[in-house]
Amino acid sequence: MDSQSVRPLLDDICAAMEQREDRGRVADYIPELAGIDPDQFGISICLADGQQLSAGDATTGFSVQSVSKVFTLAIALGRYGSRFWDRVGREPSTLVFNSVQELETRDGIPPNPFVNSGAIVTTDSLLVGATPKETLAEIIQFVRQAASDDDIYMDPEVAASENASGHRNRSLAHFLRACGNLRHDCDLTLGTYFHHCALEMTCEQLARTGRFLAGLHPSGHLIQPGHIRSINALMMTCGHYNGSGEFAYRVGIPGKSGVGGGILAIVPRRASIAVWSPGLDQFGNSLRGTAALAKLTHLLRLSVFSVS
Ligand code: GLU
Repeated sequence: MDSQSVRPLLDDICAAMEQREDRGRVADYIPELAGIDPDQFGISICLADGQQLSAGDATTGFSVQSVSKVFTLAIALGRYGSRFWDRVGREPSTLVFNSVQELETRDGIPPNPFVNSGAIVTTDSLLVGATPKETLAEIIQFVRQAASDDDIYMDPEVAASENASGHRNRSLAHFLRACGNLRHDCDLTLGTYFHHCALEMTCEQLARTGRFLAGLHPSGHLIQPGHIRSINALMMTCGHYNGSGEFAYRVGIPGKSGVGGGILAIVPRRASIAVWSPGLDQFGNSLRGTAALAKLTHLLRLSVFSVS
């Protein structure tokens, strides 16, 4: 896979996505995200030779939301190693991403770190020995280093908007706390969680941030290779909530979606890919983003399940 073969494909994919009539539904449970234009589409890919190729709205910023859970997991694994898994499982979820029922049936141990309950526990683990401000600074520092870009911020209005309407997440935090699986005050942990979900990035920045998961960061491994393998496995099996099986079937590479419409997808040793289109499918994953990745992995035979 080199830039000459990829370049025309990106333009073709952009044109195909433009023509698609079904664009999905923009997430409206976070009021600040409800007014986003669903017609936007961007894609960017970082290749093993250091080149980056982009098409469409790849330099427009968007709220990465749950894609940020990949970065908090990377920091938590670095800090706790395998002890992290005492508090969070590694199994796909079967219900919606903010399900209280799923947490209740597992006695307060979230199924995986990418559903909301699991990500709230991850954030809680990062708050040990640090204030929310210090924790957020650590997260943003990690992301900027991964992206080789200091121009990345959290949007306080998106965080405030989610804080004002985040009753589901509040119920998850309180349930976790009741089960003894949340060490910090619910509001303090949620405030930190809402802020890291409110990271704003462009496709170009997100694709560069993902290089460390493909083993392609220019400074070498930012985290232990064993942790990279763990995160990629989790992205493949749990990165699209209860739509993860569908994503593996259609796209076939590790990926993590967010309700802002972004997806970070990884081809280990070969590429880091970011796509963004705000309209979501029934699982809360970008509809056109998934379709674009399915087309790309099909054309370039990138699915790990492909034999030809
Ligand atoms: N901040 C969002 C929430 O907690 C993240 C969900 C997502 O992006 O899938 O609901």
